[in-house]
Amino acid sequence: MDQSSTPVTSALGRVKVRVPAKVNLALKVGALGDDGYHPLGTVFHALSLYDDVEARLAEGLSCEMRGDSADTLPVDGSNLVMRAAALLRETYDCPQGAEVSVLKTIPVAGGMAGGSADAAATLLACAMLWDLDTQPEDLHDLAAQLGSDVPFALVGGTARGAGRGTELVPMLSRGTYHWVLALADEGLSTPGVYRRFDEMVAAGEVTPSIEIPPALLNALAAGDVAGVGRELVNDLQAPAVSLRPELGDVLDTGRAAGALGTVLSGSGPTCAFLVGSEEAAMDLATELSHHRSVWATRRAVGPVPGARPVS
Ligand code: C5P
Repeated sequence: MDQSSTPVTSALGRVKVRVPAKVNLALKVGALGDDGYHPLGTVFHALSLYDDVEARLAEGLSCEMRGDSADTLPVDGSNLVMRAAALLRETYDCPQGAEVSVLKTIPVAGGMAGGSADAAATLLACAMLWDLDTQPEDLHDLAAQLGSDVPFALVGGTARGAGRGTELVPMLSRGTYHWVLALADEGLSTPGVYRRFDEMVAAGEVTPSIEIPPALLNALAAGDVAGVGRELVNDLQAPAVSLRPELGDVLDTGRAAGALGTVLSGSGPTCAFLVGSEEAAMDLATELSHHRSVWATRRAVGPVPGARPVS
């Protein structure tokens, strides 16, 4: 379905939506605001690493999680999938229910917005399943209530984000970018990494700023992969590395092995490496897989579209 049209009900009583992970090509973080959030200047980039979210008509709401590390996730009302379905149902005063099944490939607690992606996919799948009269901007507003990264998962591609990350402007970008992701076996807490950022600001070790480097925007507009690689930036990288020093070594290893750019993904612990070709991605993934702090590697390309129905 094209997201510009109103969703239609699946005649089968089930809708499956595929949704991508993201990395931030830039994640610039301002000073903590009174609302407990940090203003951001960010560039989101959707990657070909997907979760599949299937919603089936049912009485009440329930969810199940399958796939990589899925057993570590709650399936009660605290799961973002359940919160997304409940928010949609409440907003549209919908009498129907859904059983939502998530097949995870996006690393759990990896800084790649996996939970946010599942919430975005649930909004779209349930809107279609329940035949709700939703426009993309309606889903965007609900998505923004669920989390900072949820609206981008609906849109995908490459987009600038402001505010908490929910104010999005799509960017035209040229070409395909090849990525290697180095996964850690234990997640990092996003609020914990932001707290460490605040401590480093208070100690004068980092300066809050939401300005996205103009050179990154120029390189993206020109499709200059090496230029994008040079300009990747993440203000949460130093706080995450201070909490988990071995991540610094993983990033250095990728850089020494010839990656065009290295950056922590979101609040980590996944490390992202930009390379020039699929062959280079295979070589780097092999090299990184030998690092003792790398639990697994993935290869992906970007940008890819946001949440989409699949059969
Ligand atoms: O919005 P989301 O639920 O993804 O954010 C998780 C946590 O990350 C927030 O509770 C907050 O502690 C921190 N955060 C922040 N500033 C942002 C986004 C997230 O401080 N812009």
